[in-house]
Amino acid sequence: MHKASGVVEIMRASPVNKIVEIEINEKWCKGCEICVDVCPHDVLVMENGIAKVKDLESCTACNRCELQCPDFAIVVISPKQETQPVS
Ligand code: SF4
Ligand code: SF4
Repeated sequence: MHKASGVVEIMRASPVNKIVEIEINEKWCKGCEICVDVCPHDVLVMENGIAKVKDLESCTACNRCELQCPDFAIVVISPKQETQPVS
């Protein structure tokens, strides 16, 4: 699928209760599946070679996927991080 050059596509999934949000930068994701493998709650799934959020309600904001992604393509945002950024 063609994407306009220079456009960074962000897939954001957020539950109604706003416990956690997950952003996946589809332009940076190379489809290595590491995030899917390390997630202990099967929140993520591969779809057409790109990581997608399948079950956000099960996410505990453990940050494993974000920390293990070699391409910085996935960001987990929890209320704690929004008010107190981790350096
Ligand atoms: S670990 Fe990163 S690059 Fe690999 S599939 Fe997940 S989001 Fe994409
Ligand atoms: S933060 Fe933890 S529970 Fe949530 S998607 Fe990433 S690895 Fe899975």
